[in-house]
Amino acid sequence: MVEFPSPVLVVDDSGVQRQYMADLCRTLGASEVLQARGGAEALEILSTERDRLRLVIVDLEMPDVDGVQVMQESLQLKLEVPIIVASSRESSLLASIETMCANLGVNLICALAKPLTVMQLTTAVSRIQPKSIAKKSIAEPEGHSFEPREFSEALMHHQFCAHFQPKVTLDSGTLKGVEVLIRWQHPRRGLVMPGHFIPAMEGTPFIHYVTFEVLDLTLAQMKDWLARGLVITASINLSASSLARPGFIDTLLERIKTSKVPPSLIICEITETAIMTDLGVSLGALARLRLHGVGLSIDDFGTGFSSMQQLSQAPFTELKIDRAFVHGAHERTHLRVMLESTIEMARRLNLNVVAEGVETAADWTLLRALSCEMAQGYHIARPMPSDTFLEWAQQTDRAHLA
Ligand code: C2E
Ligand code: CA
Ligand code: CA
Repeated sequence: MVEFPSPVLVVDDSGVQRQYMADLCRTLGASEVLQARGGAEALEILSTERDRLRLVIVDLEMPDVDGVQVMQESLQLKLEVPIIVASSRESSLLASIETMCANLGVNLICALAKPLTVMQLTTAVSRIQPKSIAKKSIAEPEGHSFEPREFSEALMHHQFCAHFQPKVTLDSGTLKGVEVLIRWQHPRRGLVMPGHFIPAMEGTPFIHYVTFEVLDLTLAQMKDWLARGLVITASINLSASSLARPGFIDTLLERIKTSKVPPSLIICEITETAIMTDLGVSLGALARLRLHGVGLSIDDFGTGFSSMQQLSQAPFTELKIDRAFVHGAHERTHLRVMLESTIEMARRLNLNVVAEGVETAADWTLLRALSCEMAQGYHIARPMPSDTFLEWAQQTDRAHLA
């Protein structure tokens, strides 16, 4: 059972609603519940109690200062307290608030429909990260705290390692491939996730070197899997700048060839946004990879602004639907519509379609109903080191997926 954060601040202009939510929090174990009758009062409490508050539950529609303004102001005040929005407005508005907060960096846990239920609130609270973790990622903005010297040492001493996340078919749960995700085994900081160093490498030559490191780790691993009779694809992530770098594609193809791993088992993932940045330059590189049999996947599909016409010009073999459209689509009509039409479009373009971020059985069931081909996500398995992955791959019971 998760400990309920306390003190919690409940903000709602309706006295009835406010009292209801405050009682709910107490029932779930909050020892101290503060109440604000509107946005202005909330901002006052937020600035005086900033170091004590552990959670804010805020309504959207309020006559003085509305919920969006409260969140914008809290950002100005550099507040890191987790926020839950509780509103009776339509789900598409709630979804756009979630997107806005994700983009601005507001610590929004989720936006829920009123009246809140015990179940909803408990689930939301369980998603709050421990304070130490939340603090760390803010104090150490993604990637800015590493020196180039550390990157070269890391490469020299082979501190980067690869984790593997399965991609399975939705109809039978069969393992078809893995996505290779880099981690940095840092001598002092422990295991560092890519979000903390890849952005800092972008725009420097390290991004290319690190890709070759990942490729080498992947090829070595695949040789081992092939020797054991495990024939699966491996997807690696490419940066757009690498596509434009002279000699990059040649080196990549050369290393695949030397390894004797069939190029058709390698898939290069490139984000939709990266491809569109310089379509002209990307197309040449993509065409060459494809000519040599390497698979090409459009990553994070749905987050950019490409058109079907632009995408149909590039020689892709696979489309990965971004998790923003996947997880939770069963309860959000507009997400489901996007998901359905993307699957349909991919099918028309003759692309394999993979749904990312399949976190729950409900996500899985919906994707099956929509006849999506493949899935990747925590519901199936988290990214794993090679030995754990091998055990996972050898165990054939996937009953929990059916
Ligand atoms: P991505 O390519 O979109 O990779 C998928 C990310 O989603 C991974 O995060 C994975 O752990 C996470 N994920 C998988 N299933 C779920 C799920 O069900 N729910 C949620 N919430 N997340 C899920 P990770 O490993 O932290 O990687 C983050 C990003 O870092 C990747 O996003 C990719 O853009 C980049 N990255 C990772 N490895 C490499 C690499 O070798 N080279 C480059 N250039 N970028 C890399
Ligand atoms: Ca990817
Ligand atoms: Ca992705």
